Amino acid sequence: MHTSIAAGTQETAAEREQFECLKQFQSAGRGLWSDVPDRDWSSWTWQLRHRITDPAELSARMPALTPEERAGAQLANTRLAMAITPYFFNLVDPADVNCPIRRQVIPRLSETVTAHGEMTDPCGEDSHSPVPGLVHRYPDRVLFLVTDRCATYCRYCTRSRLVSNATGYDFHPDLDRQLDYIARTPAVRDVLLSGGDPLLLRDEKLETLLSRLRAIPHVELIRIGTRIPVFLPQRITPELCAMLRRFHPLFLSIHSNHPRELTVEVRAALERLSDAGIPLGNQSVLLRQVNDDPTVMKAHLHKLLMCRVRPYYLYQCDLIAGSSHLRVRVAKGIEIMNRLRGHTTGYALPQYVIDAPGGGGKVPITSEHVLSRTADRILLRNFEGRIFEYPETPDLAPAAAAPRDAFPPRGFAREALRGPAPVLR
Ligand code: SF4
Repeated sequence: MHTSIAAGTQETAAEREQFECLKQFQSAGRGLWSDVPDRDWSSWTWQLRHRITDPAELSARMPALTPEERAGAQLANTRLAMAITPYFFNLVDPADVNCPIRRQVIPRLSETVTAHGEMTDPCGEDSHSPVPGLVHRYPDRVLFLVTDRCATYCRYCTRSRLVSNATGYDFHPDLDRQLDYIARTPAVRDVLLSGGDPLLLRDEKLETLLSRLRAIPHVELIRIGTRIPVFLPQRITPELCAMLRRFHPLFLSIHSNHPRELTVEVRAALERLSDAGIPLGNQSVLLRQVNDDPTVMKAHLHKLLMCRVRPYYLYQCDLIAGSSHLRVRVAKGIEIMNRLRGHTTGYALPQYVIDAPGGGGKVPITSEHVLSRTADRILLRNFEGRIFEYPETPDLAPAAAAPRDAFPPRGFAREALRGPAPVLR
């Protein structure tokens, strides 16, 4: 399934066939829940109540678990809980150990291994937090962590230290302090609601939160980061969309990684959001044996556009503790981006970024921001001109050569570090 295509090579007939197959929209179906009445199946609260959270239930539903997965499921709650909606579970291929959906949501024992450079807070969010649950990293915007719950837990979650229903709150307990900070900080014109997943709040609660934000005059833009349309499309009800459209300008970023996640059900949910006038973007994480392949990536990007979603970011997987089995070399990400550029519309191309370890923020992987790249590290310059180091993922396959025209010559980083402060971008 995961063929590697070197940059610049021609697409083979097999790759073309794979691409066409991946681009099809399929229904997730009912699978093991075929006897559930339609009314229940299409209810988002029913889906939440029937999530797979227990290792015994997982084994019963999927007897072909590997020993690594079985052990991972037993230990999952010690770090990041396991939860999978029935809808999303139907996308898992029980016959394929390396199913790209399976790799994202079924725990593995490898999660207990902390590799070199990995951290519990890889993006340094806690050190930029003026109030618990609020991250003020960039000058004009804040990240507002409104809840600690998600419909399904991604095994590479950057916020695994915070999410997985550890406390079970709906609103963050410091909600009033969070809103107060935004109200008395006029520089904040853009608020990104995230978590956990804000769309897990019931309509009335979300409406209350959005109303309170809209009452702050300097808040111009509200954004919601959510994986709900992908994990739980049933949540995107006409009532939710009607409520959200009252709070424009409101943008929404979904999180999808693989073309199979974009089902008939997800496409319909995204259409409801688009029809409510909400601009949609997508954030993906580059993951080993999930989407680290140009054909898979291109099919995913094309399907996103067909769902009226603009690909926004492609993240290099953060150095989150226990994620090394899912991380891909930066060289591979560059190769994929080079393979796509020019071969599809610019609208389909996300920006490939590293969230600089320790709180440097998102740094695009471009010649302006990557100062140097060696076999074991990458030097990045962020938007403030500060320098950060990202350790390259250990090579499990021959590394692709750096594209000659994409990066400055060797030694450039050293010069930049020695010379005058780089220009702020
Ligand atoms: S939906 Fe987002 S916050 Fe929730 S587990 Fe996945 S990556 Fe983490």
